[in-house]
Amino acid sequence: MIERLCVIGVGLIGGSLARALRAAGACREVVGAGRNPANLQTAVDLGVIDRYETDLARAVAGADMVLVSVPLGAMAAVFNAIRGHLSPHAVLTDAGSAKGGVIDAARQAFDGLPAAFVPGHPIAGTEQSGVEASFAGLYKDRRVILTPLPETDIQATARVRDMWEAAGAEVVEMDPVHHDAVLAATSHLPHVLAYTLVESLVRLGDEGEVFEYAAGGFRDFTRIASSDPVMWRDICLANGDAIQLMIEHFVADLQELTEAIQNRDGQQLLELFTSARDARDRYVDK
Ligand code: NAP
Repeated sequence: MIERLCVIGVGLIGGSLARALRAAGACREVVGAGRNPANLQTAVDLGVIDRYETDLARAVAGADMVLVSVPLGAMAAVFNAIRGHLSPHAVLTDAGSAKGGVIDAARQAFDGLPAAFVPGHPIAGTEQSGVEASFAGLYKDRRVILTPLPETDIQATARVRDMWEAAGAEVVEMDPVHHDAVLAATSHLPHVLAYTLVESLVRLGDEGEVFEYAAGGFRDFTRIASSDPVMWRDICLANGDAIQLMIEHFVADLQELTEAIQNRDGQQLLELFTSARDARDRYVDK
């Protein structure tokens, strides 16, 4: 049981965790924190948090679990603001979509990585953001990746694992560098492609007509381009090297496809599309 959960950044991710833990009876009190009192009051009105603070040092006082779920670019400022104010028994974790930058920011802010800091990343979300979009079932049967380091206290990792499991998730552990490479391929590259596809069509001009005839395929492929631009800017900046590698890999494959089209090589096109279709059928929506 978590006595007092402090959620810094009560948006889709933090708000959904608070809702899930309350629904499961797994925490007694939730204190929300952020910059904007109007958003935080909405979170109180929606029953997501019990009360809020805009002073982060006050927010974390007395909390036994602290989740930082702000955009990646705001993590360092949050760590600096709470430094020296955490309870001695507090566990600190985060939900950032790329781990290397968050770990570096924590190491700098706390002069070394605190044993009670457990980096984490729920593999769940929607293209919506803000507390209004949060819901208790977001993590049900979804994975959460924890990336504890050699410095991380085993008990702290166990408490974060228990928290996510209480929210309905399956927890796995991974090395942070491996996490960032895997997520660059499976999440960051698709988002970059979706944004670029929509923007490419915008740049064709005569936007109205292009989008007027956009059918199901376009809608399916580009849904994630409705995600929060700040979050995706921060992910591209934080995980730039791994994302760049994936883009280069993708561009080479796209070039190969372009040549097959140029050469009217029906056999090559058929082989590529069949291989991709079979892989998708095997691994996705199985
Ligand atoms: P969100 O809905 O926009 O919520 C972010 C919250 O952070 C907002 O409530 C915002 O509230 C607060 N915030 C923003 N800047 C801040 C700052 N400088 N200091 C303090 N609070 C600040 O975003 P989200 O989708 O929940 O994402 C949160 C984190 O989870 C990100 O690190 C993201 O990478 C990660 N994540 C997202 C998803 C996803 O699909 N959305 C999935 C997995 C992980 P105020 O404006 O009131 O401050």
